[in-house]
Amino acid sequence: MSDLSVQLETPTSGKYTQPTGLFINNEFVKGVDGKTFEVINPSTEEVITSVHEATEKDVDIAVAAARKAFEGPWRKETPENRGKLLVNLANLFEKNLDLLAAVESLDNGKAVSMAKVDISMCAGCLRYYGGWADKIEGKVIDTTPDTFNYIRKEPVGVCGQIIPWNFPLLMWAWKIGPAIACGNTVVLKSAEQTPLGALVAAGLIKEAGFPPGVINIISGFGKVAGAAIASHMDVDKVAFTGSTVVGRQIMKAAAGSNLKKVTLELGGKSPNIVFEDADIDNAISWVNFGIFFNHGQCCCAGSRIYVQESIYDKFVEKFKERASKNVVGDPFAKDTFQGPQVSQVQFDRIMNYIKEGKDAGAKVEIGGTRKGDKGYFIEPTIFSGVTEDMKIVQEEIFGPVCSISKFKDKEEAIRVGNSTTYGLAAAVHTKNLNTAIEVSNALKAGTVWVNSYNTLHHQMPFGGFKESGIGRELGEAALDNYTQTKTVSIRLGDALFG
Ligand code: ADP
Repeated sequence: MSDLSVQLETPTSGKYTQPTGLFINNEFVKGVDGKTFEVINPSTEEVITSVHEATEKDVDIAVAAARKAFEGPWRKETPENRGKLLVNLANLFEKNLDLLAAVESLDNGKAVSMAKVDISMCAGCLRYYGGWADKIEGKVIDTTPDTFNYIRKEPVGVCGQIIPWNFPLLMWAWKIGPAIACGNTVVLKSAEQTPLGALVAAGLIKEAGFPPGVINIISGFGKVAGAAIASHMDVDKVAFTGSTVVGRQIMKAAAGSNLKKVTLELGGKSPNIVFEDADIDNAISWVNFGIFFNHGQCCCAGSRIYVQESIYDKFVEKFKERASKNVVGDPFAKDTFQGPQVSQVQFDRIMNYIKEGKDAGAKVEIGGTRKGDKGYFIEPTIFSGVTEDMKIVQEEIFGPVCSISKFKDKEEAIRVGNSTTYGLAAAVHTKNLNTAIEVSNALKAGTVWVNSYNTLHHQMPFGGFKESGIGRELGEAALDNYTQTKTVSIRLGDALFG
């Protein structure tokens, strides 16, 4: 493939031009080695198109572009202008919302109605960080009368950003927003399963007015381009969202190269705890959304459901009824809630976990099978009769599969809630304020929802306790990832030592 774009069509947005090159220095270019890879439509298992693949050499070129921009014009750009550019980008996301959402659905398989929410959240996030750009402030620290000391919050430099395929554009915005607000430059690698949306959005970077080299977007594989970013000697920071297994490799690569700063947003096995005094219908609705939203492909998915024993039987019946109503099918159909899993690899992984659960003696309440014979569709699956040591209760499945079990009292709820190596999110359903606060405080998780689930917002920090990550994304907290503190101490008095 030699072209840098192809004409594609989606059912909701019609024909459009899909860039296929690597976006470096504000231009789409081919990879140095001329490699390409295929992008598969998870609904049909057919090839959508091919895109250019970045290898180590292209990572070097992208990093050099980002370095040149960082040390040159971008360093001198005013915070106000950085903010304006991010707001321009946010506006362009809104202007192109239907197209971006359709490309996400085509590439990732998520329902187009959900993808539209993702895109408006991208715009919200970029605009929010546009607002932060001119509010990053240092302070003056008084020590002795003959010194004047201040601290500056300076950008870190060239940031490598490696994102996953479950929310391709939302992760793009979560990463780029704070990095740019703080004055850094970026080389972002999309996930190999979902490069298309990132490239359409790359085209908007130039339109928004960013100088060349400030934001570079490359497509490529984790073991090649991702690893090259993580171990690059001229990347000052790496931000990664993905599996815990790869998170460990990123940390090792950073440690083994230039000790670049590392932030990680990793996996989870989040508990969703329902007390007997909860509003049952409300709780069921959130529990259903907690696990089956985005086909269970959420790092914070509420995959372990614990229900207080007095309401357990009733809850299971009603939950089954509710989950059976989730419409699984064509992401472009109006009523679809759950599309296909993203890839054959993920599909196989999830089906293996389902088999593991069955073999271990867990009871399938609903689902447990693929849906149809084309596309990576899996029926919403609920396991009961599980024990805490089962793989399906301990390991992240990243699919529409959950376990449900009962607990006796608050103490047991807290104990089982905290019984995995993960600590990304959790939820508590109760009408009792004391229970809500006591249990939320005791759960070892970066986010706890009370009487809701998955209600992430760009103003609120998000990230993991335990093996679910390092650092926080979103909110003011994300600025810490992308700034470094410089202390300047000015001597006002005479020389101290003569
Ligand atoms: P998943 O298992 O859900 O596909 P991964 O953690 O493998 O998630 O992938 C998330 C992102 O990390 C993707 O962009 C992928 O290309 C990248 N990645 C995978 N392996 C590596 C690696 N060894 N080094 C750097 N990036 C990687």
